Amino acid sequence: MDSHAALRRLNGGNSDFAALLDHLNDESGVQQIIPVDPRDLGLDSNVAGTPKQRPFAAVLGCSDARVPIELIFNEGPNDLFVIRVAGNGLGMEVLGSLKYAVDHLGGTLKLIVVLGHSGCGALTTAVDMFLSPSNYVTIAAMHSVRNILDRSLIVVQASANKLISAFGPGVTRYPGYRKALIEASIVTNAALSAYSIQQEFITHAVPELQAVYGVYILETREVWAPRSGGIKGTGLASPPRDLAGFSAFADAVVQSERIASCLKSGTFD
Ligand SMILES: [Zn+2]
Repeated sequence: MDSHAALRRLNGGNSDFAALLDHLNDESGVQQIIPVDPRDLGLDSNVAGTPKQRPFAAVLGCSDARVPIELIFNEGPNDLFVIRVAGNGLGMEVLGSLKYAVDHLGGTLKLIVVLGHSGCGALTTAVDMFLSPSNYVTIAAMHSVRNILDRSLIVVQASANKLISAFGPGVTRYPGYRKALIEASIVTNAALSAYSIQQEFITHAVPELQAVYGVYILETREVWAPRSGGIKGTGLASPPRDLAGFSAFADAVVQSERIASCLKSGTFD
């Protein structure tokens, strides 16, 4: 498996997971069987010792209980190296975990995924701090919380600038502005993190690895990654490669149906 095959497998797994629940129409629920290699659970009597770790992808996701990483990609034990922290930001423990994965799982690891999700509480709080800076006083002495939120504020600022340049200064008075800013910040945060990982871990040392990003949409259970060219943006995508790429990415975000629908939500004053 190479990085392209790994990407197709994750996108296909998410597509299957999302479609599975499309037909849920009664209280009996649905059942999904995930194939598991017995060797990955130590059940092969011909193999002595503990199973060897062999994930094909590392996923940095949020701790949010509504986003169970293996389930939403239709994967089982020993398939994914998963790191979950609130807001899926690149703190030191996260970077150290990714460094370990790149250095020690290189034989099987082909993809690093940064996965945000709609309505993320961490980015929502960062947006609310940005919109009402006086609220920051309440967390000024809470360094553990600030460690999560502070790094998000530049992404929120950039997203706010882009919304204003795309829709004009009046956009801040749209009833759906806050929601649009939250969702734009969530996807930009994931793309920027994937770009950082690509630069820090991959470009020179292990060119066969690829970093990708996406946002898990709670309402549809699909992964969304807006990209230029007017494409719908379903499934994980490669992050921008440079500043010009980020400009095109930001255009794709603000021109997406999702952000337009956020802005249109509610009514004007
Ligand atoms: Zn979250």
